Amino acid sequence: MNWNRFALQLSLSLLAIGQCFHLRAQVPCLFDEVKEERLWNNPFLKAQRKIWEQHSAVSSGTDLLLRSNIIIPVVVHVVYFNDEQNIPDTRIYSQIERLNQDFSGSNEDLNNVPNVFKHLVAKTGIEFCLANEDPDGNFSNGILRVPTSINRIGTAIGTGGRRNIFYEELEGSEIWDSERYLNIYVCDMGEIAGFASAPFTAIPQEDGVLINSKYFGVNNDPEFGMGRVCTHEVGHFFDLNHIWGSALDCEDDDGISDTPRQMGPYFGCPSHPRTSCGSEDLFMNYMDYVNDSCMFMFTAGQKLKMLSALSGPRFKLLHSTICNDPDTVMQENGITIFPNPVGNGPLIVHSNNSDDLIQSWELYSMEGKLISAIFRK
Ligand SMILES: [Zn+2]
Repeated sequence: MNWNRFALQLSLSLLAIGQCFHLRAQVPCLFDEVKEERLWNNPFLKAQRKIWEQHSAVSSGTDLLLRSNIIIPVVVHVVYFNDEQNIPDTRIYSQIERLNQDFSGSNEDLNNVPNVFKHLVAKTGIEFCLANEDPDGNFSNGILRVPTSINRIGTAIGTGGRRNIFYEELEGSEIWDSERYLNIYVCDMGEIAGFASAPFTAIPQEDGVLINSKYFGVNNDPEFGMGRVCTHEVGHFFDLNHIWGSALDCEDDDGISDTPRQMGPYFGCPSHPRTSCGSEDLFMNYMDYVNDSCMFMFTAGQKLKMLSALSGPRFKLLHSTICNDPDTVMQENGITIFPNPVGNGPLIVHSNNSDDLIQSWELYSMEGKLISAIFRK
Protein backbone atom coordinates (compact mmCIF):
# COMPACT_ATOMS: atom_id res chain seq x y z
CA MET A 1 0.00 0.00 0.00
CA ASN A 2 1.41 3.35 -0.97
CA TRP A 3 0.15 5.70 1.70
CA ASN A 4 0.76 8.84 -0.35
CA ARG A 5 -1.44 7.54 -3.13
CA PHE A 6 -4.00 6.37 -0.62
CA ALA A 7 -4.06 9.83 0.97
CA LEU A 8 -4.50 11.44 -2.43
CA GLN A 9 -7.38 9.15 -3.30
CA LEU A 10 -8.97 9.78 0.05
CA SER A 11 -8.63 13.51 -0.43
CA LEU A 12 -10.27 13.32 -3.86
CA SER A 13 -13.08 11.23 -2.38
CA LEU A 14 -13.64 13.79 0.34
CA LEU A 15 -13.75 16.51 -2.24
CA ALA A 16 -16.31 14.58 -4.25
CA ILE A 17 -18.46 14.10 -1.16
CA GLY A 18 -18.11 17.81 -0.39
CA GLN A 19 -19.31 18.72 -3.87
CA CYS A 20 -22.34 16.41 -3.62
CA PHE A 21 -23.15 17.77 -0.21
CA HIS A 22 -23.11 21.29 -1.56
CA LEU A 23 -25.15 20.24 -4.59
CA ARG A 24 -22.58 21.61 -6.94
CA ALA A 25 -21.49 19.89 -10.10
CA GLN A 26 -18.13 21.57 -10.44
CA VAL A 27 -14.83 21.31 -8.65
CA PRO A 28 -13.63 24.90 -8.26
CA CYS A 29 -9.88 24.36 -8.14
CA LEU A 30 -7.50 21.44 -8.53
CA PHE A 31 -4.59 23.11 -6.73
CA ASP A 32 -4.23 20.80 -3.73
CA GLU A 33 -4.73 17.55 -5.61
CA VAL A 34 -2.34 18.25 -8.46
CA LYS A 35 0.28 19.75 -6.14
CA GLU A 36 0.32 16.59 -4.05
CA GLU A 37 0.40 14.33 -7.08
CA ARG A 38 3.21 16.22 -8.77
CA LEU A 39 5.34 16.32 -5.64
CA TRP A 40 4.70 12.65 -5.08
CA ASN A 41 5.79 11.89 -8.66
CA ASN A 42 8.87 14.10 -8.72
CA PRO A 43 11.44 13.68 -5.93
CA PHE A 44 13.56 16.58 -7.26
CA LEU A 45 10.66 19.04 -7.10
CA LYS A 46 9.72 17.67 -3.70
CA ALA A 47 13.24 18.33 -2.37
CA GLN A 48 13.30 21.83 -3.89
CA ARG A 49 9.89 22.60 -2.45
CA LYS A 50 11.01 21.45 1.00
CA ILE A 51 14.10 23.70 0.90
CA TRP A 52 11.93 26.62 -0.20
CA GLU A 53 9.39 26.01 2.57
CA GLN A 54 12.17 26.00 5.16
CA HIS A 55 13.60 29.20 3.67
CA SER A 56 10.26 30.99 3.46
CA ALA A 57 9.46 30.07 7.05
CA VAL A 58 12.33 32.29 8.23
CA SER A 59 12.35 35.00 5.57
CA SER A 60 9.73 37.33 4.23
CA GLY A 61 9.09 39.65 1.35
CA THR A 62 9.67 42.75 3.48
CA ASP A 63 12.46 44.06 1.18
CA LEU A 64 9.92 44.27 -1.60
CA LEU A 65 7.55 46.33 0.54
CA LEU A 66 9.91 49.27 0.02
CA ARG A 67 9.64 49.47 -3.72
CA SER A 68 6.89 50.74 -5.92
CA ASN A 69 4.53 48.44 -7.72
CA ILE A 70 5.85 45.19 -9.13
CA ILE A 71 4.72 44.65 -12.71
CA ILE A 72 4.27 41.06 -13.86
CA PRO A 73 4.25 40.41 -17.62
CA VAL A 74 1.44 38.09 -18.66
CA VAL A 75 1.02 36.01 -21.78
CA VAL A 76 -2.48 34.63 -22.35
CA HIS A 77 -2.71 31.40 -24.35
CA VAL A 78 -6.25 30.92 -25.67
CA VAL A 79 -6.35 27.23 -26.64
CA TYR A 80 -9.76 26.60 -28.16
CA PHE A 81 -11.74 23.57 -29.30
CA ASN A 82 -14.65 25.64 -30.61
CA ASP A 83 -15.46 29.26 -31.39
CA GLU A 84 -17.07 29.89 -28.03
CA GLN A 85 -13.80 29.07 -26.27
CA ASN A 86 -11.92 31.47 -28.57
CA ILE A 87 -12.84 34.38 -26.33
CA PRO A 88 -12.49 37.96 -27.63
CA ASP A 89 -9.68 40.32 -26.68
CA THR A 90 -12.11 42.40 -24.63
CA ARG A 91 -12.60 39.48 -22.21
CA ILE A 92 -8.82 39.26 -21.85
CA TYR A 93 -8.46 42.98 -21.15
CA SER A 94 -11.26 42.75 -18.58
CA GLN A 95 -9.35 39.95 -16.84
CA ILE A 96 -6.12 41.95 -16.63
CA GLU A 97 -8.13 44.86 -15.22
CA ARG A 98 -9.77 42.56 -12.65
CA LEU A 99 -6.38 41.23 -11.54
CA ASN A 100 -5.05 44.77 -11.20
CA GLN A 101 -8.02 45.93 -9.17
CA ASP A 102 -8.02 42.94 -6.84
CA PHE A 103 -4.27 42.87 -6.25
CA SER A 104 -4.12 46.64 -5.70
CA GLY A 105 -7.08 46.71 -3.34
CA SER A 106 -8.88 49.17 -5.63
CA ASN A 107 -11.76 46.76 -6.27
CA GLU A 108 -15.15 48.42 -6.17
CA ASP A 109 -16.49 46.02 -3.53
CA LEU A 110 -13.67 46.32 -0.99
CA ASN A 111 -16.05 48.16 1.35
CA ASN A 112 -18.02 44.94 1.75
CA VAL A 113 -15.28 43.50 3.96
CA PRO A 114 -16.81 43.10 7.45
CA ASN A 115 -15.54 45.60 10.02
CA VAL A 116 -13.90 42.91 12.09
CA PHE A 117 -11.56 42.07 9.17
CA LYS A 118 -10.98 45.54 7.69
CA HIS A 119 -7.63 45.96 9.44
CA LEU A 120 -6.32 42.87 7.63
CA VAL A 121 -6.94 44.19 4.09
CA ALA A 122 -3.80 44.54 1.97
CA LYS A 123 -2.90 46.25 -1.27
CA THR A 124 -0.34 43.80 -2.61
CA GLY A 125 1.59 46.19 -4.85
CA ILE A 126 1.57 43.57 -7.61
CA GLU A 127 0.39 44.68 -11.07
CA PHE A 128 -0.12 42.75 -14.29
CA CYS A 129 0.29 43.69 -17.93
CA LEU A 130 0.12 41.92 -21.26
CA ALA A 131 3.66 41.28 -22.50
CA ASN A 132 4.75 43.36 -25.49
CA GLU A 133 7.63 41.09 -26.42
CA ASP A 134 7.90 37.34 -27.02
CA PRO A 135 10.84 35.27 -25.71
CA ASP A 136 12.77 35.95 -28.97
CA GLY A 137 12.38 39.71 -28.61
CA ASN A 138 9.69 40.08 -31.28
CA PHE A 139 6.74 42.39 -30.77
CA SER A 140 3.68 40.73 -29.25
CA ASN A 141 0.31 41.81 -27.93
CA GLY A 142 0.60 39.20 -25.17
CA ILE A 143 -2.20 37.05 -26.59
CA LEU A 144 -1.76 33.71 -28.40
CA ARG A 145 -4.61 31.87 -30.10
CA VAL A 146 -4.14 28.17 -30.76
CA PRO A 147 -6.84 25.84 -32.14
CA THR A 148 -6.89 22.28 -30.83
CA SER A 149 -8.82 19.14 -31.74
CA ILE A 150 -8.55 17.82 -28.19
CA ASN A 151 -11.71 18.18 -26.17
CA ARG A 152 -11.13 19.41 -22.59
CA ILE A 153 -7.46 19.92 -23.29
CA GLY A 154 -7.02 21.63 -19.91
CA THR A 155 -7.26 18.28 -18.16
CA ALA A 156 -5.76 16.04 -20.88
CA ILE A 157 -2.61 14.07 -20.16
CA GLY A 158 -0.53 13.01 -23.17
CA THR A 159 2.45 10.78 -23.81
CA GLY A 160 5.02 10.60 -21.04
CA GLY A 161 2.56 12.01 -18.53
CA ARG A 162 2.88 15.46 -20.08
CA ARG A 163 -0.09 17.80 -19.87
CA ASN A 164 -1.21 18.42 -23.47
CA ILE A 165 -2.04 22.06 -22.90
CA PHE A 166 1.64 23.04 -22.50
CA TYR A 167 3.03 21.41 -25.66
CA GLU A 168 2.58 22.32 -29.30
CA GLU A 169 3.26 18.74 -30.40
CA LEU A 170 0.42 17.61 -28.11
CA GLU A 171 -1.94 20.20 -29.67
CA GLY A 172 -1.47 22.73 -26.91
CA SER A 173 0.52 25.97 -26.80
CA GLU A 174 4.22 25.99 -25.93
CA ILE A 175 4.85 27.82 -22.68
CA TRP A 176 6.89 31.05 -22.76
CA ASP A 177 9.86 31.07 -20.37
CA SER A 178 7.99 30.61 -17.10
CA GLU A 179 10.67 32.45 -15.16
CA ARG A 180 10.10 35.64 -17.17
CA TYR A 181 6.37 35.45 -17.92
CA LEU A 182 3.24 34.54 -16.06
CA ASN A 183 1.64 32.11 -18.52
CA ILE A 184 -2.16 32.02 -18.27
CA TYR A 185 -3.92 29.35 -20.31
CA VAL A 186 -7.59 29.84 -21.18
CA CYS A 187 -9.06 26.50 -22.17
CA ASP A 188 -11.80 23.93 -21.67
CA MET A 189 -11.39 22.25 -18.29
CA GLY A 190 -14.76 20.51 -18.10
CA GLU A 191 -16.24 21.04 -14.65
CA ILE A 192 -13.02 22.37 -13.16
CA ALA A 193 -12.78 26.13 -12.80
CA GLY A 194 -9.02 26.57 -12.62
CA PHE A 195 -5.61 25.40 -11.60
CA ALA A 196 -2.19 26.91 -10.85
CA SER A 197 1.22 25.61 -9.84
CA ALA A 198 2.84 26.95 -6.69
CA PRO A 199 6.63 27.49 -6.74
CA PHE A 200 8.51 24.19 -7.16
CA THR A 201 5.38 22.15 -7.76
CA ALA A 202 5.75 21.95 -11.54
CA ILE A 203 8.57 21.52 -14.02
CA PRO A 204 9.35 24.84 -15.78
CA GLN A 205 7.67 23.63 -18.99
CA GLU A 206 4.35 23.29 -17.12
CA ASP A 207 4.62 26.12 -14.59
CA GLY A 208 1.60 28.35 -15.14
CA VAL A 209 -2.07 29.08 -14.53
CA LEU A 210 -5.05 27.40 -16.22
CA ILE A 211 -8.51 28.98 -16.27
CA ASN A 212 -11.66 27.43 -17.66
CA SER A 213 -12.60 29.60 -20.66
CA LYS A 214 -16.16 29.89 -19.28
CA TYR A 215 -14.88 31.87 -16.30
CA PHE A 216 -12.08 33.99 -17.79
CA GLY A 217 -12.59 37.75 -17.63
CA VAL A 218 -16.00 39.33 -17.30
CA ASN A 219 -18.49 36.66 -18.42
CA ASN A 220 -22.12 35.60 -18.06
CA ASP A 221 -21.74 32.93 -15.40
CA PRO A 222 -24.00 33.69 -12.41
CA GLU A 223 -21.38 32.53 -9.89
CA PHE A 224 -17.98 33.15 -11.49
CA GLY A 225 -18.77 36.02 -13.83
CA MET A 226 -16.30 38.63 -12.58
CA GLY A 227 -12.96 37.01 -13.41
CA ARG A 228 -12.03 36.08 -9.86
CA VAL A 229 -11.26 32.45 -10.61
CA CYS A 230 -8.10 33.95 -12.10
CA THR A 231 -7.45 36.15 -9.04
CA HIS A 232 -7.65 32.99 -6.90
CA GLU A 233 -5.37 30.94 -9.18
CA VAL A 234 -2.74 33.68 -9.49
CA GLY A 235 -2.74 33.75 -5.68
CA HIS A 236 -1.76 30.06 -5.80
CA PHE A 237 0.94 30.82 -8.39
CA PHE A 238 2.49 33.19 -5.83
CA ASP A 239 2.37 30.45 -3.18
CA LEU A 240 -0.91 31.13 -1.41
CA ASN A 241 -2.81 28.13 -0.11
CA HIS A 242 -6.56 27.82 0.27
CA ILE A 243 -7.73 29.77 3.28
CA TRP A 244 -8.58 26.55 5.16
CA GLY A 245 -5.31 24.80 4.25
CA SER A 246 -5.62 21.54 2.37
CA ALA A 247 -7.41 19.26 4.86
CA LEU A 248 -10.96 19.65 6.16
CA ASP A 249 -10.12 20.07 9.83
CA CYS A 250 -8.89 22.70 12.32
CA GLU A 251 -5.37 21.31 12.57
CA ASP A 252 -4.39 22.08 9.00
CA ASP A 253 -3.86 25.76 8.19
CA ASP A 254 -2.85 27.92 5.24
CA GLY A 255 0.46 28.82 6.89
CA ILE A 256 -0.44 32.49 7.22
CA SER A 257 -0.73 33.99 10.68
CA ASP A 258 -3.39 36.65 10.12
CA THR A 259 -5.98 34.38 8.48
CA PRO A 260 -8.13 32.60 11.09
CA ARG A 261 -8.24 28.81 11.08
CA GLN A 262 -11.14 27.50 9.07
CA MET A 263 -12.63 24.01 8.84
CA GLY A 264 -13.11 23.95 5.06
CA PRO A 265 -14.30 25.89 2.02
CA TYR A 266 -17.46 27.96 1.72
CA PHE A 267 -19.58 28.01 -1.43
CA GLY A 268 -22.18 30.35 -2.83
CA CYS A 269 -22.55 33.60 -0.94
CA PRO A 270 -22.68 33.05 2.82
CA SER A 271 -23.59 35.89 5.12
CA HIS A 272 -21.13 37.05 7.76
CA PRO A 273 -20.51 35.95 10.48
CA ARG A 274 -19.89 32.22 10.14
CA THR A 275 -17.64 30.50 12.60
CA SER A 276 -15.50 27.39 12.68
CA CYS A 277 -12.44 26.34 14.68
CA GLY A 278 -13.41 28.83 17.42
CA SER A 279 -13.32 32.04 15.34
CA GLU A 280 -15.15 33.97 12.64
CA ASP A 281 -14.26 32.76 9.17
CA LEU A 282 -12.64 34.83 6.44
CA PHE A 283 -14.67 33.29 3.63
CA MET A 284 -14.75 36.62 1.73
CA ASN A 285 -11.06 36.09 0.95
CA TYR A 286 -9.96 35.44 -2.64
CA MET A 287 -8.52 32.09 -1.56
CA ASP A 288 -11.90 30.62 -0.57
CA TYR A 289 -14.46 29.06 -2.97
CA VAL A 290 -17.32 31.55 -2.63
CA ASN A 291 -18.93 33.25 -5.64
CA ASP A 292 -16.98 35.99 -7.39
CA SER A 293 -19.30 38.69 -6.07
CA CYS A 294 -18.73 37.53 -2.48
CA MET A 295 -14.91 37.61 -2.31
CA PHE A 296 -13.12 40.95 -1.94
CA MET A 297 -9.73 40.80 -0.22
CA PHE A 298 -6.22 39.55 0.39
CA THR A 299 -4.67 39.98 3.84
CA ALA A 300 -1.35 41.56 4.85
CA GLY A 301 -0.04 38.08 5.68
CA GLN A 302 -0.99 36.82 2.22
CA LYS A 303 0.71 39.84 0.66
CA LEU A 304 3.96 39.05 2.48
CA LYS A 305 3.76 35.40 1.41
CA MET A 306 3.36 36.45 -2.24
CA LEU A 307 6.20 38.96 -2.01
CA SER A 308 8.31 36.25 -0.41
CA ALA A 309 7.69 34.05 -3.47
CA LEU A 310 8.62 37.00 -5.67
CA SER A 311 11.87 37.58 -3.80
CA GLY A 312 12.59 33.82 -3.90
CA PRO A 313 11.68 31.29 -6.58
CA ARG A 314 9.72 33.73 -8.74
CA PHE A 315 12.32 36.51 -8.54
CA LYS A 316 13.10 36.59 -12.27
CA LEU A 317 9.61 37.92 -12.92
CA LEU A 318 10.69 41.08 -11.08
CA HIS A 319 13.35 41.87 -13.63
CA SER A 320 11.14 41.59 -16.62
CA THR A 321 10.65 44.77 -18.65
CA ILE A 322 8.28 43.33 -21.21
CA CYS A 323 5.05 45.13 -20.53
CA ASN A 324 2.43 46.85 -22.61
CA ASP A 325 1.06 48.72 -19.68
CA PRO A 326 1.05 52.52 -19.73
CA ASP A 327 2.11 52.35 -16.09
CA THR A 328 5.64 51.65 -17.38
CA VAL A 329 5.68 55.40 -17.84
CA MET A 330 5.62 57.02 -14.42
CA GLN A 331 4.34 60.56 -14.10
CA GLU A 332 4.35 62.50 -10.88
CA ASN A 333 4.57 66.20 -10.02
CA GLY A 334 5.35 67.17 -13.60
CA ILE A 335 8.18 64.64 -13.88
CA THR A 336 7.99 61.77 -16.36
CA ILE A 337 10.17 58.70 -15.79
CA PHE A 338 10.38 55.76 -18.16
CA PRO A 339 10.71 52.90 -18.60
CA ASN A 340 9.68 51.78 -15.12
CA PRO A 341 11.09 49.32 -14.27
CA VAL A 342 14.24 49.95 -16.29
CA GLY A 343 16.31 47.12 -17.82
CA ASN A 344 19.82 47.50 -19.22
CA GLY A 345 18.92 50.52 -21.33
CA PRO A 346 18.85 54.18 -20.27
CA LEU A 347 16.42 55.57 -17.70
CA ILE A 348 14.83 58.77 -18.96
CA VAL A 349 13.88 61.43 -16.41
CA HIS A 350 12.04 64.29 -18.05
CA SER A 351 10.60 67.44 -16.54
CA ASN A 352 7.48 68.72 -18.24
CA ASN A 353 8.57 72.27 -17.38
CA SER A 354 11.74 73.27 -19.24
CA ASP A 355 12.59 75.82 -16.53
CA ASP A 356 12.90 73.08 -13.92
CA LEU A 357 16.27 71.75 -12.94
CA ILE A 358 16.17 68.45 -11.10
CA GLN A 359 18.16 69.05 -7.93
CA SER A 360 18.41 65.56 -6.56
CA TRP A 361 17.32 62.01 -7.11
CA GLU A 362 17.55 58.61 -5.51
CA LEU A 363 17.62 55.44 -7.56
CA TYR A 364 16.31 52.19 -6.10
CA SER A 365 16.73 48.63 -7.35
CA MET A 366 13.83 46.26 -8.00
CA GLU A 367 14.35 44.90 -4.48
CA GLY A 368 13.96 48.35 -2.93
CA LYS A 369 17.70 48.92 -2.28
CA LEU A 370 19.20 52.38 -2.84
CA ILE A 371 21.54 52.19 -5.88
CA SER A 372 22.64 55.80 -6.14
CA ALA A 373 21.67 59.23 -4.91
CA ILE A 374 22.61 62.62 -6.36
CA PHE A 375 22.16 65.93 -4.54
CA ARG A 376 23.00 69.17 -6.35
CA LYS A 377 23.69 72.36 -4.40
ZN1 LIG B 1 -7.65 27.01 -5.32
